[in-house]
Amino acid sequence: MIPATFDYVRAESVAEAVGLLAADEDAKLLAGGHSLVPLMKLRLAAPSQLVDIGKIAGLSYVRDAGDHIAIGALTRHRIIEADPVIRAGAGLLAAAAAEVGDPQVRHRGTIGGSIAHGDPASDLPAALLALDASYVVTGPAGDRTISAASFHIGFLQTALHPAEVLTEIRVPTGAPRFAFRKFRARAADWAVVGVAAASGPAGVRIGLVNMGATPLRALQAEAAVAAGLPAADAARLAAEGTEPREDLGATASFRRHLARVLVGQALEELAGRPC
Ligand code: FAD
Repeated sequence: MIPATFDYVRAESVAEAVGLLAADEDAKLLAGGHSLVPLMKLRLAAPSQLVDIGKIAGLSYVRDAGDHIAIGALTRHRIIEADPVIRAGAGLLAAAAAEVGDPQVRHRGTIGGSIAHGDPASDLPAALLALDASYVVTGPAGDRTISAASFHIGFLQTALHPAEVLTEIRVPTGAPRFAFRKFRARAADWAVVGVAAASGPAGVRIGLVNMGATPLRALQAEAAVAAGLPAADAARLAAEGTEPREDLGATASFRRHLARVLVGQALEELAGRPC
């Protein structure tokens, strides 16, 4: 389908993008366009103006910042998949990025767009939840930092204010063991359910893809692991507290089953046992 009419402007800086958003409450940022443009074609989104941030210099980077890795919001999935700093310090994020769509999608889509879009079926937000990441956003009042845990507030809804731009993702290092499991109907599909698990000094953290309106943690399974229960017993609790949707891809009960199976596999992998 053809999108509704819109204006287009290319922002040369974050400050300019913030100003353009502040001046027009129906304007939307455009990064890789791989989530927003499909919505516009279906007329599920009809922004008055697209503010293209795709060419802002200095918003695509990966930096080793000691206790965390700083990633610019415009960094493409393909870079995240392959970057040696991310692979060494936040391997779970690289593993999740490698499972996003197909190579064409990974060469266009950005980490900032994936987070800001707020789709619970996206792979990276669940991995970032498991890694206890935080997000730097810039708005008319300056910068603020939002934890991944409090960023997603509902289906396609985030804690971003209308005139704010997500600029940097901060991923703590120190979760050397990880597992990313994704169940999908066909190669390159979105997850029916996904599981992102990381193990570090603070214990095991498990993010769930597509198990509710937002990315979620499998908190009861995590607590069971912390209490020393076997992986199989912890995995049985993986779907507690979730509200997966019913759609053409799966029933809610099948999604709960998948979460239990995938968390079980991920915990075995973290423990170094073949599964
Ligand atoms: P855009 O589409 O440009 O923007 C998305 C939303 O975020 C818009 O509302 C925009 O205004 C906002 N936004 C963008 N950047 C910022 C920013 N810096 N600050 C504030 N707001 C911002 N994803 C998966 O996780 N797993 C998959 O398996 C998968 N498969 C896909 C298959 C296909 C065929 C396609 C087309 C997409 C798929 N995706 C998948 C989505 C893909 O990862 C998207 O690229 C990503 O979700 C959005 O990134 P983007 O840069 O394209 O964002």
